Amino acid sequence: MTNDPTDPGAVAPKTQRPCPICRKPAVDRYRPFCSARCADVDLGRWFTEAYRIPGAEAEEAEDPPPAGPPRGPDDDG
Ligand SMILES: [Zn+2]
Repeated sequence: MTNDPTDPGAVAPKTQRPCPICRKPAVDRYRPFCSARCADVDLGRWFTEAYRIPGAEAEEAEDPPPAGPPRGPDDDG
């Protein structure tokens, strides 16, 4: 048996990915985020993407502002 201390694989560096939102060290509890807040932010982004339809431009039907009520002849008096 040869006990080689330089055995590749024996030493596995724990590389924790940073929070994808704020790049802070992620917390095991909120992986892969650093906090519940960041997790919520990511969820919101995901929903935004889901709502979007790829290939179709989101066209908002915006009605022009009303020109005002039709005014009759100038009735003075
Ligand atoms: Zn974060």
